[in-house]
Amino acid sequence: MSGSLICCQSVAGCYHGTLTTGCYNPALVSAEPYPTEIRRLPESRRIRVTWDDGHIAEYDYDYLRGYCPCAACQGHGAGEVQFQPPPSPVEALAIQPVGNYAVSIHWSDGHASGIYRFEFLRQICPCEKCGVKTE
Ligand SMILES: [Zn+2]
Ligand SMILES: [Zn+2]
Repeated sequence: MSGSLICCQSVAGCYHGTLTTGCYNPALVSAEPYPTEIRRLPESRRIRVTWDDGHIAEYDYDYLRGYCPCAACQGHGAGEVQFQPPPSPVEALAIQPVGNYAVSIHWSDGHASGIYRFEFLRQICPCEKCGVKTE
């Protein structure tokens, strides 16, 4: 429900391909760092996030699905989001911006209520660098 989105409500195909900073207003993004591009890579079944600090993260569909932070997937625990392996492999059908701070992902199993905050995406970056939390 953000009136500050620049496009995506009106640009055809925006949901289904790549989100860029054109899809939200970087000036209003509170998370630091924030993604400059979020792209689906259907061939490798991954989502690639390019961050404004130059970092590039690639998330397997099943990995991200398993980290769905919504209450339905995470149950009642109010703590950290736990990885819940999906019962069967999923595809990411679409990515949509949520306000200026997150994206939601529409999965092939019909689930689409998870809100992946940029900070959270960065936290669960599976690359070697990020796996070691030294910052
Ligand atoms: Zn969920
Ligand atoms: Zn990383």
